[in-house]
Amino acid sequence: MSLLVVGSVAFDALESPYGKVDRIIGGAATYFAVAASFFSRVNLVAIVGDDFTALDAQIFKGRPIDTVGLERAEGKSFFWAGRYSENLNERVTLTTELNVFAQFQPKLPETYRSSKYVFLANIAPDLQRSVLQQVRVRPKLVALDTMNYWIERTPDELRETLKHVDILMINDSETRQLSSEHNLLRAARHIFKMGPSALVIKRGEYGAMLVDNKGVFCVPAFPLEEPHDPTGAGDSFAGGFMGYLAGCGQKSDASLRRAMVYGSVMGSFAVEQFGPDRLRKLKRSEIHARARHFSKLTQFTL
Ligand code: AMP
Repeated sequence: MSLLVVGSVAFDALESPYGKVDRIIGGAATYFAVAASFFSRVNLVAIVGDDFTALDAQIFKGRPIDTVGLERAEGKSFFWAGRYSENLNERVTLTTELNVFAQFQPKLPETYRSSKYVFLANIAPDLQRSVLQQVRVRPKLVALDTMNYWIERTPDELRETLKHVDILMINDSETRQLSSEHNLLRAARHIFKMGPSALVIKRGEYGAMLVDNKGVFCVPAFPLEEPHDPTGAGDSFAGGFMGYLAGCGQKSDASLRRAMVYGSVMGSFAVEQFGPDRLRKLKRSEIHARARHFSKLTQFTL
C-alpha cells in the first residue's frame, strides 16, 4: 500500500549535552520517510533549495522512497537550529529559517494521487489540507502532526483541516493546548469532536498513548542508557506507526497496537545518535529484535 508524506526536508544545527553538529540533514518528512520505508513504499512531497546536493539526496536512495514529489527551488533549504537541556526533555528553538519553504505550494505528482495512507507532517494546516484535496479517492487512513506554532497562529485553519483527519499525533502539551483540557482522556474526548477518531499522544521518554473509541493503549519508550539527540523522534515514531499500518493494510485494534510498538521502536533508534545517523545505518533485523524486546519489557502475569 502506498504511503504519502508531506512535510519538511531540512538542514538542522543541533546541540545536546552529548555534542553539537552545525549542519546535518533533518526535517520531519525526512525522519518520517526513512523510518516508514522499512515497512512500506513512501511517496515524498517536500521542497528543498539548490544547497541540497545529490550527496544529501543519498539519504532516500536504496530505499522504497519515491522522490518525484521532492521539488527543487532556487534558494536555501529550510533551516532549523535547536538546543536540548541536560536531561534532553526540553528544547529551545534557536533559529527557524523557512527559506524555500516560505513559497511552498505542494503539488502531488499524478502517481501519488491514489495514495491510501497519508501523513501530514508538521506544516501550515492549509498546506496540509491542500495535499489532502489532491488525493483522488478518500484515503484509508489520514494522520496529522502539528505544533504549538500552528495551534496558536492558525487555529481556524487547523480546525478546518482536522475535520478530514482520522488520527491526530501530537505531544502531551500540544494535546492540552489544543483542547484546553489538562486531563489527557478528557482532552481526547474534546479532540474527537473536532474530527479525528483516534489520538496518539507522544510523551517523549515516557512513551506514547493511543486513545480511541475502543479505549486506551500505552507503550513505553525503550529504556536507553545514552540517548544522544531526540530530534526527529516524534517523526520517526509516526513513520514506524504509519509505515507498519500501510505495510499490513489493516487498521484493526490489534494492528494499531502493533503500530504503536513499531512507532516506539523507530523513535528509540532515532535518539541513539545525532540527526538521522542511526536510522541511516539501521537494519530490518535490528527493528524486529527491538520489537521482541518491547514484548518482553511489557509482559507480566497476574
Ligand atoms: P521533532 O523533533 O519530531 O519535532 O522534529 C524535528 C524536525 O522538524 C527537525 O529536523 C526540523 O528540521 C523540523 N522542524 C522544526 N521546526 C519545524 C517547523 N516549524 N516546520 C516544519 N519542520 C520543522
